[in-house]
Amino acid sequence: MQLQPLRALSDNYIWLLAGEAGRALVVDPGEAGPVLRAAAEGMQPAGILLTHHHDDHIGGVPALLARWPDLPVLAPVDDRISTATRRVAGGESIAIDDWRFDVVAVPGHTVSHIAFHGHGHLFCGDALFSLGCGRMFEGTPRDMLGSLDRLAALPDDLLVCCGHEYTVSNAAFARAVDPDNTALQRRSEEATTMRDAGLPTVPTTLAAELACNPFLRVDAPAVAAAAARWAGTALGARVAVFAALRRWKDTFPA
Ligand code: ZN
Ligand code: FE
Repeated sequence: MQLQPLRALSDNYIWLLAGEAGRALVVDPGEAGPVLRAAAEGMQPAGILLTHHHDDHIGGVPALLARWPDLPVLAPVDDRISTATRRVAGGESIAIDDWRFDVVAVPGHTVSHIAFHGHGHLFCGDALFSLGCGRMFEGTPRDMLGSLDRLAALPDDLLVCCGHEYTVSNAAFARAVDPDNTALQRRSEEATTMRDAGLPTVPTTLAAELACNPFLRVDAPAVAAAAARWAGTALGARVAVFAALRRWKDTFPA
């Protein structure tokens, strides 16, 4: 099984997971061009997985269906995705060729956002990023924290394949929250080195995110204390810590 991130738009990744004979799953094709170029080099799409309705994740689907009209397009239950051939929801399992994926509901960035988990990979769109998480456009802090808790409970050797290259800017915020976290310092430096070399910083591993990502570490005393300091008040419940962190990030200089 071979994983490949295709750069798309300004900072998106389209993920290809290739199996036998060049057949590959295509995750979140925000534009068609990179996928068509991969096909010109021998990749044969077996199906498309969509995590959420935002155009930078689904914009390439019509052009891909024009080229491959029978391609299955698996998408969340959401009318805003008109190109779906099959709707899937959290708790379901899906099969394409020999692939099997479990679908995890991860509302928060959008209400119908899903993630796909299987074969050692997690395709999580804009729910979880390396060292960050998606902006909470539609869900509540309780929704989004529940989503991140579901992802955090998955096997920690999973390769986390997220939708954007945000690691370096996320690292600046994460280090402001959790300055004494040495694993985070190392990850941050490694990410900067990789970007300087023009390399993607993803996939990351769930284990690395559990050690470094402040949004997965609301139970860490240092993270909770930093959130309370920023909010200027005691926060108590972990959902309040998460909500404060998310608000803090939204106002943090990029
Ligand atoms: Zn999005
Ligand atoms: Fe996005």
